[in-house]
Amino acid sequence: MAETIIGIDLGTTHSAVGVVDSGFPILLANEDGKRIIPSAVWIGPDGEIETGDRALRRRAADPQRVVTSIKRLIGRRHDEIDPDFPLPVTRDANGLPRVLGRTPEEISASILRELKRIAEWRMETTVRKAVVTVPAYFHDAQRAATKRAAELAGLDVVRIVNEPTAAALAYGLDKLGDDSRVAVYDLGGGTFDLSILRLHDGVFEVLATHGDTRLGGDDLDARLLHAHAPDLDPARWLAEACRVKCALSDAGTATLRAPFHNGGDSLEVAITRDMLEREAAPLIRRTLDHARRALADAALTPADIDAVILVGGSTRIPAVQRAVAEFFGREPDLSQHPDEAVALGATIQAGILGGAMQRMVLLDVTPLSLGLETYGGLMNVLIPRNSTIPCKAGEMFTNAADGQRSMRVRVLQGEREMAADNRELGSFEVNFDPAPKGRARVGVQFRIDENGILEVLARDTRTNRDTVVNLDNAAVNVDDAAVEKMVGESVDHAFEDMSARIFTEARLKADELLPAVDAALATGLVEPAERAEIEAAAAAVRAAIDQAAANPLKQAVQRLDRATETLAARLIDRAMDEALDRQL
Ligand code: AMP
Repeated sequence: MAETIIGIDLGTTHSAVGVVDSGFPILLANEDGKRIIPSAVWIGPDGEIETGDRALRRRAADPQRVVTSIKRLIGRRHDEIDPDFPLPVTRDANGLPRVLGRTPEEISASILRELKRIAEWRMETTVRKAVVTVPAYFHDAQRAATKRAAELAGLDVVRIVNEPTAAALAYGLDKLGDDSRVAVYDLGGGTFDLSILRLHDGVFEVLATHGDTRLGGDDLDARLLHAHAPDLDPARWLAEACRVKCALSDAGTATLRAPFHNGGDSLEVAITRDMLEREAAPLIRRTLDHARRALADAALTPADIDAVILVGGSTRIPAVQRAVAEFFGREPDLSQHPDEAVALGATIQAGILGGAMQRMVLLDVTPLSLGLETYGGLMNVLIPRNSTIPCKAGEMFTNAADGQRSMRVRVLQGEREMAADNRELGSFEVNFDPAPKGRARVGVQFRIDENGILEVLARDTRTNRDTVVNLDNAAVNVDDAAVEKMVGESVDHAFEDMSARIFTEARLKADELLPAVDAALATGLVEPAERAEIEAAAAAVRAAIDQAAANPLKQAVQRLDRATETLAARLIDRAMDEALDRQL
């Protein structure tokens, strides 16, 4: 029986956790379906803790209590740390830094505890051991402090692995020939490093590493905003610049929108990929300077490198990929998600150490995506096309109506956005105890075994009652012509499919928002100044629904959301005050 060891990427901006299950390394998603969580911790006045997206959401109201980038401080003395850490850093009696009265280890432990919790929740078992990654340039004190942080979180670190080594494992480079050399180009949100590895007797050795702990995608957001919307306050609009930047990795143009940025005026600027690339050029040049130095340290030239891999979200930028290809004179391997590679590698290492990876057999891939129908008739993909089997994936669903007693699970196969356009493999009814809207929780899991048999399991998490349905190979497997037809159709219909999805999602949001807005308008809590905008925004939403116009509806819903932001905050405050009054 293999021992469960989890793999953890404890990153500066993001973290992730994975495990080898059924011989397959997978990253584990939290309750929101996210496999990557922000490395953020909110520490409340009474020591309460929130992590991840929940911590970041507190930033607007409580910026001084949200700690990010704690990895910059871990294992360092107070006199070694960056003077521009975003929060005040005090010095304790031993000359060590503290933020909000806590040590960097304690704060990192909160993130690790959350990752452990996600793993235990997903795996339904207690987890005590982990493989944790650290940057190749981390010195002993930083490694030891990372280990202590894990211990505080209740995890025994069975191995610390260098991030570039983990990434190389995730890309399967341990199968390269002996004495191969690999360059790992890692450009994240706030840090860059380039490492040269040598594979020898199946073990990676770090030959050289160079980088800058203050260079990353976040700098590009700031440059973009400064160059094309200099009047906007970065504190408020950096996230919009980041959104535009990410959109430009896929599209040639994107629009930066800053509605009512100074009270009345709205700003819309069309930004092209060329414009972004102009801002990115100096940053990319700096990364290549580091690459040059790392190669020089290793006494190698670009031509000596056998494989180049990309790590970190910012390597999704096409200009970065081109520059790396040109520098090394070879195309980088793009086969893995750059932001998941380190966690995946940590997971593989954990699987090897725990004995879960020995039986790994890579058999086949799924020809088409498998998923479920969700609200509004949308296709929700659980196992994407071309996933290697065996594999499994799951998601939590909830009831859409009060007192609902059952839910129909429709198992679908195909690449289209709307359920009705995909193939239904089967469907069944899951019964659960009636509960108020949103309170019943049904976990649905798809598992495809080595033989291509799809098992669909639905569990009522309150009673732990399972419904299991098996769909055999014949149902799931389709011939090449059918796959080609399906994929062809999904390409032909890409635009209409996308707008159908946008419309359906915005419509669901509108159905939630409109009654709440009407109810709020009926109270005396709406300021006259807001009322006009809220009413106009609500009217725009209704008009867009009538016209069945997808993008206008999405924009109108966003506008209504913004228009009611302060009102929503006031309603919450009032509810809190009332609750407190009742307690007194
Ligand atoms: P990481 O630290 O690896 O999580 O990388 C985070 C950085 O990657 C942030 O600066 C993101 O804005 C950036 N990023 C994520 N996705 C994309 C994308 N599709 N295009 C450009 N940058 C991206």
